Amino acid sequence: MNTVTESFGSLVFDDRAMKARLTGEVYRAMKQTMKKGQPLNPKVADAVASAMRDWAVEKGATHFTHWFQPLNGVTAEKHDGFISPAPDGGVIMEFSGKELIQGEPDASSFPSGGLRATFEARGYTAWDPTSYAFIKGKALCIPTAFCSYGGEALDKKTPLLRSMEALNTQALRILRLFGNKDVQRVTSSVGPEQEYFLIDREQWKKRRDLVYTGRTLFGAKPPKGQELDDHYFGVIKPRVQAYMEELNEELWKLGILAKTEHNEVAPCQHELAPIYTTTNIATDHNQLTMEVMQRVAEKHGLVCLLHEKPFAGVNGSGKHNNWSISTDTGVNLLSPGESPYENAQFLLFLTAVLEAVDEYADLLRASVATAGNDHRLGANEAPPAVVSVFLGDELTAVLEALETEKPYTGTEKSEMMLGVLTLPRFLRDTTDRNRTSPFAFTGNKFEFRMVGSSNSIACANIMLNAAVADTLGKFADSLEGASDFDSALHELLLTSLKAHKRILFNGNGYDDAWIREAVEERGLHNLRTTPDAMKALLEPKSMQMLIRQKVYTETELRSRYEIMLENYCKTIEIEARTMSEMVSKEILPAVEKYTASVADAAAKKLTLVPVLSCSYEKHLVQKLSALADQIEKGAAELDETLATLSTVTDTPLLAEEIRDRLLPKMAELRAVADEAEVLTAREFWPFPTYGEILFAM
Ligand code: ADP
Ligand code: MG
Repeated sequence: MNTVTESFGSLVFDDRAMKARLTGEVYRAMKQTMKKGQPLNPKVADAVASAMRDWAVEKGATHFTHWFQPLNGVTAEKHDGFISPAPDGGVIMEFSGKELIQGEPDASSFPSGGLRATFEARGYTAWDPTSYAFIKGKALCIPTAFCSYGGEALDKKTPLLRSMEALNTQALRILRLFGNKDVQRVTSSVGPEQEYFLIDREQWKKRRDLVYTGRTLFGAKPPKGQELDDHYFGVIKPRVQAYMEELNEELWKLGILAKTEHNEVAPCQHELAPIYTTTNIATDHNQLTMEVMQRVAEKHGLVCLLHEKPFAGVNGSGKHNNWSISTDTGVNLLSPGESPYENAQFLLFLTAVLEAVDEYADLLRASVATAGNDHRLGANEAPPAVVSVFLGDELTAVLEALETEKPYTGTEKSEMMLGVLTLPRFLRDTTDRNRTSPFAFTGNKFEFRMVGSSNSIACANIMLNAAVADTLGKFADSLEGASDFDSALHELLLTSLKAHKRILFNGNGYDDAWIREAVEERGLHNLRTTPDAMKALLEPKSMQMLIRQKVYTETELRSRYEIMLENYCKTIEIEARTMSEMVSKEILPAVEKYTASVADAAAKKLTLVPVLSCSYEKHLVQKLSALADQIEKGAAELDETLATLSTVTDTPLLAEEIRDRLLPKMAELRAVADEAEVLTAREFWPFPTYGEILFAM
């Protein structure tokens, strides 16, 4: 296979494969299932499974696995062979409908936040027929949801599918109010732009911090950073180009429409964007993309770093979650329309998103909270931890006109009247796109930019879908009973905009003045750390909303809260232990060796020429000895703090202690170690420096 069109999706059991391999009847049943979420009858499932197996075996697969997304943030799979003994002593390749539809992985090693204890030790996986099966290596992978026997979700896909269902239900109610009878289904779509760092594998191997934690825990600032902006959209280096080419080819085979690639702001930083698709598929694809990115890097002698902040003082990595909602008739509900009614409908959806983001800003913040992402959000970097929405000048003016009940005269001289809303046809907003905004409207979609680069996009979209669904539901409640739809709609939009316009901000999101204004004048949340943000999951208002929309049960929310905080604690504890080990095994021995060599050199000089002052050596030895003492003290304090924290058993309390006591100790230790790095001769320093890693490519 040599052309892209031939190889695209060649490892996916997609519509083309289904059409070619299923009988007409089975194919139609399968399509119904995919479209409406109807269960497959066992006969059809058997037929699909056997066609899938033949297809996979022809492509070299020997195993199958249910592929799912447990709460530890990676994907999981347990491989079973197709092979089965035949009566004649040979073997046959078997795969039944039952095996396709449901599996029972041993769930005990996946995080459950105490859920499984109350139910059963085992969980089960259930096929998500809306996401195509694919081949990875020698395994046929079947995208599945992962639940406990009590039906509680143990993964990210289940609540995501529920949130999409909620959005569908509520959006349909609104569309019916606007007289729309054709639309059968409303779905949210996502295009996640993925940022990453690419570094040399040999150098990576020499740094325990990168190997164990994905980020550097030490490292003095190099003389050159990103200040020249010479990397952004710069020429892509041949080695990186070769990587990107192979990455694209691998992703295309998996049916992932990787489309754009360019350099990002920081040296070694790049971005990949796929063409947007249905949210649950986009989520599966993003997980696969991250996996393939790392695998292909290895082949090229590189390492793909997905951590949110691999290098201090250098731009971090995120994901821009481009989100929109559209109908099965092909209408993007976040796109301004042609007729007055379409525009009124657009304004309603827009207003619903604004209200949802304002009402549940803390929940959105919580959905992206991880130890890694705390280094971006809330640390002087875009976007800030304060959630606000950027609309651009034109839409802002439209909403202002609506709110103040003044006619709007836009670029096309249209008027907006009361009752029936007449809006100008907006062009894709041409105003300077605000890169600092955490939540920006970009013409026909919203771009949620707070998601961390290593994070699954599931959680952010679950909260977004659920909050918007809930707001649409509330709007539908008030409009369905109205005697005069037009004025009820007008009143509704007016009230909502008045109440929620505080969330709108078109300015510079990481200006200190904005943070002050946001918090003090507008009363917005500024949740800088994961322990702060996670509390939103247990806020009665958020819980009630998520339960009302049937996205989570209370038990599931409590277990997720527990798991997220546990992840936070474990991540930072591993970092602290890694620091301690690097100090005692590498940094202190190196400083000691170098100090001794400087002292030896001075002693030798003095035996030759006793009158020399040797002030350079003396100063250096003095400074390095003092730093070594401080490093030793810092490491001892770090170990001590770790030891005291090991007695704290309450997870939320432990998370706060880690943030308030352990993180500051880590920062102190790093500061003195970095000072020592600056003073130590390169040949003595035990691992590659920032400059070497960042400018090696
Ligand atoms: P920009 O760079 O202007 O933000 P791009 O065209 O590069 O826009 O798109 C960025 C991402 O947004 C891509 O993944 C793209 O597929 C996705 N995207 C474009 N339109 C939509 C939409 N209507 N809904 C969701 N995602 C979209
Ligand atoms: Mg973008």
